[in-house]
Amino acid sequence: MGVGVVVVYHHVTMRLIPLLTAAQETHGHLSEPVLRDLARAANVPLHRLQQLVSFYPHFRTAPPPRVELAVCRDVACHLAGIPKLQELHGGDVAVQEVSCVGRCDRAPAGLLNGTPVHLGGVDAVKRWVTGEAPAFALPPPQRWALDPYPDERYGAVRTLRDDPAGADRVIAELKASGLRGMGGAGFPTGTKWELVRQEQRTPKYVICNADESEPGTFKDAKLLADAPHLVIEGMLIAGQVVGAAKGILFLRHEYLPEKARFDAALADAPLGGFEIEVFVSPGGYILGEETALLECLEDRRGEPRNKPPFPGTHGLFNQPTLINNVETFANVPGIVANGADWWRALGTDGCPGPKLIAVSGHVEKPGVYQVPLGTTVRQLIELAGGVSGGRKLLAFAPGGASSNWLPADRADVRLDFNELAKAGSMLGSGALVIVAEGADMLEVAANVTRFFRNESCGKCVPCRVGSEKAVEMLESRKSLDVLPELGEVMALTSICGLGQVAVAPALSILKHWPELREG
Ligand code: SF4
Repeated sequence: MGVGVVVVYHHVTMRLIPLLTAAQETHGHLSEPVLRDLARAANVPLHRLQQLVSFYPHFRTAPPPRVELAVCRDVACHLAGIPKLQELHGGDVAVQEVSCVGRCDRAPAGLLNGTPVHLGGVDAVKRWVTGEAPAFALPPPQRWALDPYPDERYGAVRTLRDDPAGADRVIAELKASGLRGMGGAGFPTGTKWELVRQEQRTPKYVICNADESEPGTFKDAKLLADAPHLVIEGMLIAGQVVGAAKGILFLRHEYLPEKARFDAALADAPLGGFEIEVFVSPGGYILGEETALLECLEDRRGEPRNKPPFPGTHGLFNQPTLINNVETFANVPGIVANGADWWRALGTDGCPGPKLIAVSGHVEKPGVYQVPLGTTVRQLIELAGGVSGGRKLLAFAPGGASSNWLPADRADVRLDFNELAKAGSMLGSGALVIVAEGADMLEVAANVTRFFRNESCGKCVPCRVGSEKAVEMLESRKSLDVLPELGEVMALTSICGLGQVAVAPALSILKHWPELREG
């Protein structure tokens, strides 16, 4: 039995997580005998594989049921109303709640045997359970304003390859453009590229972080589906500028439909000797944190590293590594091809460039909208068809689940890094979550905090225990006066951003709606 497994895998790369992913695809699950054979084939102790399998939620050690319905429990789906489907659980049907599946525009959403589904109708779900396959198709690609190419593509990278001073020119244009990281942190892109370029050690790596997993965030999925060539070209330009020969797209496993589009674009791309690997994540929100992502790529549990050093100097395999988000890379070809002024003009006064924002929650037309940076929240809500059901706006989170909530009277705030910081929130992951009047904001606070509790990697005590205590307080609606102090301790003592901000959104709700403290 064991020999058969080894024969299947001995020609495959011995990187452990891809090996486990391939084995699970073949066998359906990772049984003890399969793990033993893989350990022998990879020449590692069995516990090396077991520590990975026990950490990453996408790996399973038991056979999958005939029907597996993963129901999203996070904020956009909570606001849409998660249907009660537990009655379907049993026998060869498993219904389980999971963290955000990245389909907030189809809320309430889930995955049926891995296929994204809208869970609006219980009857439809019952039909799927009894054998009818759910349909899912990505919409036809749409052209975004950040795309500089009306027809032929890859002009920017071709020009760069013929220009000895091209790398310095790109860094100068990026700096002049004011482009900042679009994954949440907002670090100036030109500065980051320059730091990696200046590093003398080789090899260097370019990583595109496509692991967006924060509730309300799904803009990168749209870009991967609609403009994969821009993401690829951004990575090619990055490789040329920083001196890297290898790039990795780190993709969340729920985005396999988008992966098909990306793979097709990659097959047609003029790579010019640059290698791009598509690495499918074994699951977990924490992998969006750049050092947890690196740990995963190095076949370890995805627990964030202490910083410094930062990945720019000590990244993948301790080598200089440039990590940017999907949207950041997609913006680069336009800036290189048409110049910083062209890109800046796509923004509004003082706020350079365009921005993709995923809009979800209580709006008529949830989806991804590209707007000039500096557009107000009110304008964006109008673009998304207004608050659903003609209701009044109650609250909004402008930057995904980890951003602070703001009340309706702040809806004229401009979507911009600095303006939102001044207003007490952040642009974050580019996800505007809308809540209409009538919603229970304390339940929203509990929902968001549960997400961080569920997704804590558990490495440090303040986050692991503190997030659990915060959820208890919010669910019981008791001891809420202690929450600010707990949040402060977590912010000061947690290793990574998850623990540092886990309680902040709930605290922002208690700040703006102080009457909720009374329980
Ligand atoms: Fe893990 Fe939380 Fe600590 Fe981050 S803060 S390393 S998620 S336990």
